[in-house]
Amino acid sequence: MTQQPSRLTDAVDSRRDDLVAFTADLIRIPTINPPGNAYREICEYVERRLRPRFPEIELIRAEGAIGDIDKYPRWNVVARRPGKAGGDTVHFNSHHDVVEIGSGWTVDPFGGEVKDDKVYGRGACDMKGGLAASIIAAEAFIDTHPDFSGAIEISATADEETGGYGGVAYLAERGMFSPNRVQHVIIPEPLNKNRICLGHRGVWWAEIETHGRIAHGSMPFLGDSAIRHMAALLGEIETSLYPALATRQTAMPVVPPLARQSTLNINSIHGGQPEPEDGYTGFPAPVVAHSARIVIDRRYLIEEKPEAVRQEVLDLLERLKATRPGFSYELRDLWTIPPTMTDKAAPVVRAVDAAINAVLGLSPDYVVSPGTYDQKHIDRIGRLHDCIAYGPGILDLAHQPDEYVGITDMLDSAKVMGLALENLLRV
Ligand SMILES: [Zn+2]
Repeated sequence: MTQQPSRLTDAVDSRRDDLVAFTADLIRIPTINPPGNAYREICEYVERRLRPRFPEIELIRAEGAIGDIDKYPRWNVVARRPGKAGGDTVHFNSHHDVVEIGSGWTVDPFGGEVKDDKVYGRGACDMKGGLAASIIAAEAFIDTHPDFSGAIEISATADEETGGYGGVAYLAERGMFSPNRVQHVIIPEPLNKNRICLGHRGVWWAEIETHGRIAHGSMPFLGDSAIRHMAALLGEIETSLYPALATRQTAMPVVPPLARQSTLNINSIHGGQPEPEDGYTGFPAPVVAHSARIVIDRRYLIEEKPEAVRQEVLDLLERLKATRPGFSYELRDLWTIPPTMTDKAAPVVRAVDAAINAVLGLSPDYVVSPGTYDQKHIDRIGRLHDCIAYGPGILDLAHQPDEYVGITDMLDSAKVMGLALENLLRV
C-alpha cells in the first residue's frame, strides 16, 4: 500500500503498461548463458529504449575477457544522463543474461506471457524485471525532475550467471565503477521489494588431488590407491572440518539463516580412470587409481580471514601427510572472492531504506546473500563500497521453471528506486 502518493510515484504508476510491455520484450530476447546468446541484440534494444533520455550511451564488448569469443561476444551497454549541474552519480546495474530453461515449464519460457499481475519467462525475476523497473524509475525521475543535479547511469551487463568477467568485472577494470566516477550503485537483483541486500559471504574454490601408484587391480598391494587416500581426506573433512565450521556463526544477516555459518561443499569428485567416452560399450580396465581429485567450494564469513580459511584445509592435509603412509597431495587454488557487506549507514542504504518506508509503509529487512553476485567486482575491482542489491522478484523463483515477476512488485520497487534517486540527487 503506497503511503503518500507523490508526483514521482504517480509518474511510475502511469507507466504500468509500458513497464509490463518492456519487461515482456526483454524476456523475448533469449540471452541464455552459457553460451551467451543474443547479447548484442538485448544491448541494442536497451540502447534504443534509453536513447531519448540518455545522451551518452556506449555498447562495450568485453574483448579478451573470459568467455568472449567471436561466436558469442560479451556485449554490455552503459548509458549516462548528466543532470543540469554537477553532483553525485547513481548507477543501476543489471545483468542481462539468464540461465538455461531446464524442464517443467507450463508457459513459453521466452514468450513474456502476462497473467494475474505477473509476467512469466526465463529471467523474469532474475533479473529482467529488475532491469525494466530501474529504467522506468529513472525515466519517471528524469521526467519529473528535468533540472536535477548529478547524473544517472544504467547498465545492462553480461555473464553474471557465470562470474561476471565479461560484464561488470571488465567494466570495473576500465574504471567505470571507480568512486570518482560513480558514487552509489543499486543492483536490482530479485531480493524481494522489502529487503535490502548489503553484500555476500566470501568464497574460496580449490582443487585437491591425492596421488597414488598405478598397478593391476588384481594385486592392489603392488600399487597405492589415490582413491583410498582421498577417502581418508573425506573422512577427516567429515569428522573434524564440518564440526569446526558449524561452530562458526556470523553477525552478517545471511538468508537463509542456515547459511549464517561457514559452509563447505564438495562440488565434484573424480578418481581413477577417466569417464568412458560416449558410445564406449566395453568394461573398465582393472587398475589401481593413481590420482583422485575433488573440487571444494568453501563459503566464508566476514569474521574469517581468507588466509586462515585456506590454512585450515592445508593443516588438515599436512596432518594426513604426517600420519598416513604414502599420502601426498597437491592443492590448487581456483577462485577466491572476499566477503563484502556495505555499512548500514552508507548513503545508498539510507536512501533506499527511507524510500521503502515511504512506498511500502514498513522498515526493510536487511539481508546478506549466501552466494556472490556482481557487487563483488564493484567492491573489489572498483573499490566502490556504497553498493547494495535491491529489486523486485522473489529470490526463490530465480532459475526455476515458470519463473515470473509480479507487476505490482515491479511498480513498487520502481517507486522505491525513483524515491531513492530523489534522496541521493539534488532536485
Ligand atoms: Zn541474478
